[in-house]
Amino acid sequence: MESVNPATGEIVATYQEMNSQELGTIVQEADEAQSHWRRRSFEERAVLLRKVADLLESNKEKYAGLMAREMGKPLPQGKSESEKCAWVCRYYADHAEQFLENEMIESDADKSYITYNPLGTVLAIMPWNFPFWQLFRFAAPALMAGNAAVLKHASNVTGCALAIEELMHEAGIPEPLFRTLVAGSDRVEQVISDEHIAAVTLTGSTRAGKAVASTAGSLVKKTVLELGGSDPYLILADADIEQAAETCVTSRLINGGQSCIAAKRFIVVEDNYDLFIENMTTLMKEKRMGDPFEDDVDLGPMARADLRDELHEQVRQSVDAGAECILGGEISDRKGTYYPPTILTNVTKGMPAYEEELFGPVASVIRVKDEQEAIRVANDSDFGLGAAVFSRDADHAERIAAEELEAGCCFVNAFVKSDPRLPFGGVKQSGYGRELSHLGIREFVNIKTVYRA
Ligand code: NDP
Repeated sequence: MESVNPATGEIVATYQEMNSQELGTIVQEADEAQSHWRRRSFEERAVLLRKVADLLESNKEKYAGLMAREMGKPLPQGKSESEKCAWVCRYYADHAEQFLENEMIESDADKSYITYNPLGTVLAIMPWNFPFWQLFRFAAPALMAGNAAVLKHASNVTGCALAIEELMHEAGIPEPLFRTLVAGSDRVEQVISDEHIAAVTLTGSTRAGKAVASTAGSLVKKTVLELGGSDPYLILADADIEQAAETCVTSRLINGGQSCIAAKRFIVVEDNYDLFIENMTTLMKEKRMGDPFEDDVDLGPMARADLRDELHEQVRQSVDAGAECILGGEISDRKGTYYPPTILTNVTKGMPAYEEELFGPVASVIRVKDEQEAIRVANDSDFGLGAAVFSRDADHAERIAAEELEAGCCFVNAFVKSDPRLPFGGVKQSGYGRELSHLGIREFVNIKTVYRA
């Protein structure tokens, strides 16, 4: 397996894939370790998770360098990612016990209650876009709940995957309890089928989610799926356009546009259409694209050449179908998998920019007549991960967010972001299950009823 620097095309490192026997041994040993780990107290587990957090902070420069080299993330963003991972580890170290406290329930029993037991060993299939965060937001609650975890990371970020394993062990997490599997996606079926795997979590494309869920489903193993999104941002008639445009541009370009919860479809009521586009264009033009190791870079290269080419094809097909490309949309001669901030206007139903996820720095702007049409278009999507509404009447916007939009995370006058305290996940083709908060830690547990007559 190869890691390629997307800014230069150079091979950063090559790794030997593990064979079937090695994978089987790791999974079996993880499961054995879990049978001891589940008996440790919350405080004992918390001490180790806090050490993991300390290492994430003290090594953040190193991890940011790895992310920059393997998938093109600008250094400051990689450091913030590492800090956010430390936050989620401390959050669950502090709160896991309270989240998993027994819950007494009155019934005809002498005593009846819910208790939460860990499920066992969970396989985590993770993507390259936030190579640290995606893993830690699953692993911090899963480990605190008493589970073991094996990580099958995206093939292009094996260096990050091995660094995560090393840091877990350095912090004192028992070695077999958390392991990285160096394996491509063709090995996943075998791992899911292993009797020692209790459950699977996947963050990635809907295509990968379907494949994993059908294998796990055939074996009646629990899954949590956090898949793609095509988040609609509704710009209502009374929105503060300057503020809305700034928030929209920030969200669209997070991680070079390679985020499941980046703003993707901008649904603008017609009175604001021209002004919104003017503001958005000015802001997108100001963004600096460059080598992720340089200072003051907003966007690095895209993570892989095939992802850049796929995005360009979606832009090209949308333009062929009648969209107007008013910014970007060209691949330059420069070395590396760069794609410029791009704006497509006059986007309409049937175009890839309307129907599909654009996983890069491309904004799709859709003109609508009024608020009702904005809501209809927002929900006219296979996806349902995040959404945002912009209006000076925050109460009104909140009602739309809470009652009308078909998405798992709906924000008002702000861009969608993940936060350890708030549940995160989607509906429709964006997946099911929730990560983070008190709900995330209850995904990989046996919610057990105890009844004493
Ligand atoms: P994938 O969904 O293919 O990869 C994500 C993870 O799933 C990787 O670990 C990958 O392993 C694994 N995987 C892929 N296919 C299978 C399979 N059939 N069975 C088991 N595991 C599998 O994402 P890509 O990197 O190819 O990106 C493609 C698109 O996916 C993006 O353009 C974007 O739309 C979406 N995506 C969404 C993300 C999100 O945050 N929700 C993150 C990344 C991508 P391997 O790398 O070895 O193939």
